[in-house]
Amino acid sequence: MQQDRRHAICWISLGCPKNLVDTERVLGRLVERGWLLCERPDDADIVIVNTCGFIQDAADESKQLLAQLGQLKKNGCAGIIAAGCLVERMGNALSSDVPEVDAFVGLADADEIEAACREIIRGRGRLFTRKPHAAHNDTGRLRITPRHYSYLQITDGCNNRCNYCVIPLIRGPLRSKPLAAVMEEARELLGDGAKELNVIGQDTTSYGKDAGGEDLPTLLSELCGLDVQWIRLLYTHPAHLTEAVIKVIAENDKIVNYVDIPIQHINDNILHRMNRIAGRKRIEDQIARLRAGIPGVILRTSVIVGLPGETHEAFEELLEFVGETRFERLGAFAYSREEGVPAYDFPAQVPEKTKQKRLGLIMRRQGKIAAETARAMIGKTVDVVVESKLKAKRSLWQGRTYGDAPDVDGIIYLSGKGLEPGMFAKATITGSRDYDLEGEILA
Ligand code: SF4
Repeated sequence: MQQDRRHAICWISLGCPKNLVDTERVLGRLVERGWLLCERPDDADIVIVNTCGFIQDAADESKQLLAQLGQLKKNGCAGIIAAGCLVERMGNALSSDVPEVDAFVGLADADEIEAACREIIRGRGRLFTRKPHAAHNDTGRLRITPRHYSYLQITDGCNNRCNYCVIPLIRGPLRSKPLAAVMEEARELLGDGAKELNVIGQDTTSYGKDAGGEDLPTLLSELCGLDVQWIRLLYTHPAHLTEAVIKVIAENDKIVNYVDIPIQHINDNILHRMNRIAGRKRIEDQIARLRAGIPGVILRTSVIVGLPGETHEAFEELLEFVGETRFERLGAFAYSREEGVPAYDFPAQVPEKTKQKRLGLIMRRQGKIAAETARAMIGKTVDVVVESKLKAKRSLWQGRTYGDAPDVDGIIYLSGKGLEPGMFAKATITGSRDYDLEGEILA
């Protein structure tokens, strides 16, 4: 048994922060059990890809990477393992698309992954395992994010069943993590050097709806009792965001004045076709409550253009709404027709050319708003985190303001004395470059 452990594993994590948490959980288990890890696929005996499969483009990217990695077997790599969402979504059908892959394991499970590694080392043929959806204990993670921030996943799965979304098919029904388990994990992450906790799930505002008794305001208040610098709430849902959540954010300095609230659209007919539960009025009320309840709140949202049945008028309504509401942060996507969900069979599919044209119009409108929002920050003093030194200009550092989530929002270029990675400080905004900012750290 012991010989297996000398082999080195390289792990590649695709997709969203929830996939990243799965990756960190399994890496922690593998190291605990004595497996070696390496950064470069070329140096590995086994390469594992935690795949993404929520839209076709992501699925294609995962397959292309798996096929490429398959070439490493010509240079002594023992095997390639596909794990995660694409395996969950496609099941056995994936094995014919990527013949290079030796093992397929559903949502990352350390036992299954380890068993697959052993089988590959023993040169035993292709295997496929997929376990029923289960709540995960995410303690003991080997973190691959920069030390100072981490993702804290409080739910997995989703019960909302938006008509265009395959995530419930992949990740299953809503499962909230018990409050005690979340707190244990949060303490462990903070003990391991994290100072910023990004609270995630498919719909964090559904926390506790499946488990009775636990709720998001209580969880956020409990987290504020810990030695944490920033707590950031991501993936809220306009149908489920409550006054109590807005209040707990407004009353606690540790919870940054930043809320991610994907609206997806604003036209009532399209919202109904999406099965988004919340209509235009509810969304407008939620935004008004957030702006009134949390001074200086930074709102992030995402929208989808080109859902089947989206008329020119419905799109114009969205474009106008984006122009009026002036979200500080906005991500826009063209509808992706995905098998297995109702919208796939909806009539009046929108031509790709029209989708891309609408996407361009939204992004241009938002680009202008984002640049104006950034310019309006000049002269203000805000909380920032210093992240890394800029290679190009050693005197400059890259960081984020409280209003920038990792990986999805803008950055701030920082100058000043005694800067170091993971340092939280105040900076005066001295300039802007489109979405991004420039600032001077206050001594
Ligand atoms: S809320 Fe809707 S879009 Fe988000 S994961 Fe759930 S079903 Fe998908």
